[in-house]
Amino acid sequence: MKYDVLIIGAGPGGIFSAYELTKKNPNLKIAVIEAGNSLDKRKCPIDGKKIKSCINCKSCSIMNGFGGAGAFSDGKYNITNQFGGTLYEYIGREEAISLMKYVDKINLSFGGEGTKLYSTTNTHIKKLCLQSGLHLLDASVRHLGTDINYIVLQNLYNELEKKVDFYFNTPALSVEKIDGGYRVNTADKSFEGTNCIISAGRSGSKWMESVCQDMDIPTKSNRVDIGVRVELPAEIFAHLTDELYESKIVYRTEKYEDLVRTFCMNPRGIVVNENTNGITTVNGHSYEDPEKQTDNTNFALLVAKHFSHPFKDSNGYGESVARLSNMLGGGVMVQRFGDLIRGKRSTPDRIEEGYVTPTLTATPGDLSLVIPKRILDGIIEMIYALDKIAPGTANDDTLLYGVEVKFYNMEVEIDENLQTKHKGLFVIGDCSGITHSLSHASASGVHVARYIAENM
Ligand SMILES: Cc1cc2nc3c(=O)[nH]c(=O)nc-3n(C[C@H](O)[C@H](O)[C@H](O)COP(=O)(O)OP(=O)(O)OC[C@H]3O[C@@H](n4cnc5c(N)ncnc54)[C@H](O)[C@@H]3O)c2cc1C
Repeated sequence: MKYDVLIIGAGPGGIFSAYELTKKNPNLKIAVIEAGNSLDKRKCPIDGKKIKSCINCKSCSIMNGFGGAGAFSDGKYNITNQFGGTLYEYIGREEAISLMKYVDKINLSFGGEGTKLYSTTNTHIKKLCLQSGLHLLDASVRHLGTDINYIVLQNLYNELEKKVDFYFNTPALSVEKIDGGYRVNTADKSFEGTNCIISAGRSGSKWMESVCQDMDIPTKSNRVDIGVRVELPAEIFAHLTDELYESKIVYRTEKYEDLVRTFCMNPRGIVVNENTNGITTVNGHSYEDPEKQTDNTNFALLVAKHFSHPFKDSNGYGESVARLSNMLGGGVMVQRFGDLIRGKRSTPDRIEEGYVTPTLTATPGDLSLVIPKRILDGIIEMIYALDKIAPGTANDDTLLYGVEVKFYNMEVEIDENLQTKHKGLFVIGDCSGITHSLSHASASGVHVARYIAENM
């Protein structure tokens, strides 16, 4: 099977490279090789009744399949260079923003019209934060919501399937350099392409490492972010979320001078399980449709851990911490803030008596047995700092779910075209280690597609 371009992974990076290639050169023969299912067949078996926790499906419907890890996400496209990745270091700040805006335009034309674009420009919240030692990062945020995000993806698929060959349930096993291009081997077929774009996301991180080893592509070890997901009554954060939807706030702790930050804020959303390499961690999202909204807002508080010589396995460290919560709680653990502060384990009764109703069924427990002290101290300090701008954050009934881990892929050595040292082999999106978000991953796909289309 011979193609001009092989794309591995149908997440935002893969989708937007396929989209842009078809726009720039409709004659190109393109294949997308995807480990998971098509969008309509993606269904997580956890129903809260018969199946309450992760059963480790062969292919995780939350992480794999058309739409990638972003398919059931909150669909927050942050247009900014301040977080979400370091794509701008490779392609320039202006180009990065311009591509993120382009992606936004496409999302609007495929079903996202009418959704709101929030912005931090001229907000009084910046001053409010500064007065309490908190720093609000600048961004514009398009919130598609889980429901509209799904519609946009389905519409994009309907358009792309006319022009691109999709191979679902087809994990790529290896990539080889051959005369005039690359061969991608799967369990029962091989594909050949002049160019190959790898966009395997976070779930493909281990596989990506093996590709880099086999093809002698230099990498450097990255960081891991560890923390909790906070859930509290939506009213407490309403003055921030109504205006900004998502506020990315950074705090430097007094005790260790570590940086703690808010991440992935979901007004009136739900807390969900996430499965990475067989380990259950926590995440969250929210719906645009008011009928699907809850009374709670959730967001993560994360501390970035960078390791120095001789330790290299930052993801392994994060996995070990998450594994502890899985070991003690059988999955994700939940604790009331008041119980954590008093050194008590939360029990089903104490959670039941609390005024915040959990939106995820998790095991009540003691997060201090799981999260390293330095990280937990930082999170507690930040909760008190947030309490100054959003009084009620540090209430006893505020729920903390653990562990939330943001695994970062090792950084793959690529140039300004996101091309590896092998001509025609590109690594984009989260598996490159340089993007960590929908907008940056999508923008990286457009960037590479334009380069390939111009140079073929
Ligand atoms: C629950 C959740 C909520 C999120 N919410 C947001 C949000 O609101 N805003 C935001 O900016 N970001 C969010 N993110 C992060 C965002 O989804 C990712 O940053 C983004 O999807 C990265 O895109 P990608 O294309 O690089 O990788 P992915 O989306 O991970 O896609 C990679 C694809 O490659 C496939 N794959 C992996 N290995 C192979 C292989 N060997 N062969 C073939 N296929 C393979 C996978 O099955 C997957 O479909 C969220 C993530 C999760 C899990």
